[in-house]
Order: sequence, then C-alpha cells, then structure tokens
Amino acid sequence: MDIAKLGEFGLIDRLTKDIEIKNESTKYGVGDDCAVLSYPDKEVLITTDLLMEGVHFDLTYIDLKHLGYKSAMVNISDVFAMNGTPRQLTVSLALSKRFTVEDMEEFYSGLRLACDKWNVDIVGGDTTSSYTGLAISITCIGEARKEDIVYRNGAKDTDLVCVSGDLGAAYMGLQLLEREKSVYYQQVEEARKKNDKRALEELSHFQPDFSGKEYLLQRQLQTEARGDIIEKLREAGIKPTAMMDISDGLSSELLHICKQSGVGCRIFEKNIPIDYQTAVMAEELNMNVTTCALNGGEDYELLFTVPIGDHEKIEQIEGIKLIGHITDAKFGKVLVTRDNQEFELKAQGWNPLS
Ligand SMILES: [Mg+2]
Repeated sequence: MDIAKLGEFGLIDRLTKDIEIKNESTKYGVGDDCAVLSYPDKEVLITTDLLMEGVHFDLTYIDLKHLGYKSAMVNISDVFAMNGTPRQLTVSLALSKRFTVEDMEEFYSGLRLACDKWNVDIVGGDTTSSYTGLAISITCIGEARKEDIVYRNGAKDTDLVCVSGDLGAAYMGLQLLEREKSVYYQQVEEARKKNDKRALEELSHFQPDFSGKEYLLQRQLQTEARGDIIEKLREAGIKPTAMMDISDGLSSELLHICKQSGVGCRIFEKNIPIDYQTAVMAEELNMNVTTCALNGGEDYELLFTVPIGDHEKIEQIEGIKLIGHITDAKFGKVLVTRDNQEFELKAQGWNPLS
C-alpha cells in the first residue's frame, strides 16, 4: 500500500496502535505533543543514532525487519554500556517513495521485537519523506542510580581489561555479504554482455552460498545488545571502572578508554576472543584475523575494566574474556603478539608489518 494513501498520521496510527506501555517511568507514550516520563530518584541516560541508507546499511543485504531490530539494539547497547537500564525509545524515519506501508510494518516488527526483548517502550517519533533512500533516527532513554553509572574515564593502573563474546564476526559477515553481492553482479554483467537470456533467468533465482558461515551473518544482521552481561556483572557484585560498547572496533574503543582515563594498556593477541568461523573466513579472504577483530566494528560486545581484586569473580562468569590490563600512561597502548612482539595499538588498520 502506498504510504500517501494513509498519510503521515494514518501511518503512525497503524504502526503504534497496539503498543502497550511496560515501564512505570513511562507516564504517557505516543499520542500527544510530547511523551511524559518520570524518573524521580534516578539519573536519566540519553543516546541517539542517525542511520543513513548507503552509508550505514545496504538494503540489498539486510531486510527491513532485521534493520529495525538492529537500529533499536545499537541504541539499547549504548545504555547498557553506561551500566544503565533502557526504558524508552523514539524513532524517526525519512522515507523515499519506494517504501510501502507494509515495508514500514516490517521495520516496526523488528524494532518492537528488540524493544520487547529488553522491556523498552516506544514512546514517540516522526515520519517524513525523503528524496533518496531511508534515514533512521533513534533515541533511547534509560535510567541508572547515580552511583551505578560507569563512564569511560574510570580505568586505573593494574585494572583488568575484559571483553564479552567474540570479536570480528560482524565484520566478516559484512565481507561475506559484499563478496556474494559482487559475485552476483559480475554474473549478471557477463550474462547481459552475452545476451544470455537463460543465464539471466537463472540468476533471478540466485542463492548466495552462506553454508558454514551462518554465525557471521547472524552477527552482522542480528545485532544483540549485551544486557545479559550487565545482569551477570551485577549478580556477581562487580562494578566496572570503565566501560563502553564495541561499535567501531576494539582498538578504537580501547584508545577512547585510555585517553579519557589518562592511562595506558597492555593487550595480548592470544587472549582476543575470535570465533572459529571468523578465523576461517579471514583465511579465505587472505586477511589477518587479529586485524579484523581489532578493527572490524559492529560487534556490540562490551569492553570494560575491573579492579584486579575482581579477578577470580570475573573468571567465573561465562562469556567474558580477560584480554590484558591497564598500565600507567607512560607505557603507552601496547598489543603483545603471539610471538611476543610489541606494537602500538592504532585506531585503524593495525599493520603487523609496519
Ligand atoms: Mg557506544
């Protein structure tokens, strides 16, 4: 259905009509000039993201349901990265003419799945038209007790550096999708040149080959915020000294923590968690897997530091890996390779040959 047929308000009505409010702090959601929130004894956390088609996502790889899910999750992830609890979300969309009402329902179904998973209320938003493509702006609001908030600037000498999950898989998933896309377009191009109608017909049923690499696709397309890790840390009575989520790659995030905390770090290559499929894919593409894990991005795992006294407690939590420790700033930011060479950590493109 053409969106113009419903109009902006009709569309918003259709997308939000059966939303149920789940949080006590949401006093009023969609339906007035503003949403009304109440946080009498808590600090309020706010994070926002703007995602542009062609820059941040490619609709040849990702369907609108997964895109809705991912757009919500990356914002929810930022609230967890402050050791907070996500509560509300607003969503604004700019749409070109090629999107239908059904497309937007798909997007919203993914968005709502992510919000339901973490008990987040959708409390508002806006839709407007765009000349080219889709733009998505999401704001997530969360809460935390003042004493629980974890900033990037609290890491201290001798603290342990930890990451959740594994790294580099989302980036490898993107490489895989790009490879299959270029294989497809190459074949189409060749068939067109030869005017091979049968080949073109066959290509219209093109099935990319992702077998054995499902985890990489899942990591790229189905982003999960690590609220489960936040819960486990709370249960264990651990409060990180510094924390952030890994959206741009481990190296870049580590440098943020070191800079803002005024410290250095020593990270061990052999401790960086990498999934088997990530390693296999890196080898296929002739890439250094550690470089991918350090610089890949979009993993949305948590990077955090804890006092050395929490060593035993941390080691007992499944899904958390100790990758190194914080040092005095004068020792720099160092990566120790498997063969005990030392390199300075760089924000991008760590090059073992330089
Ligand atoms: Mg972040």
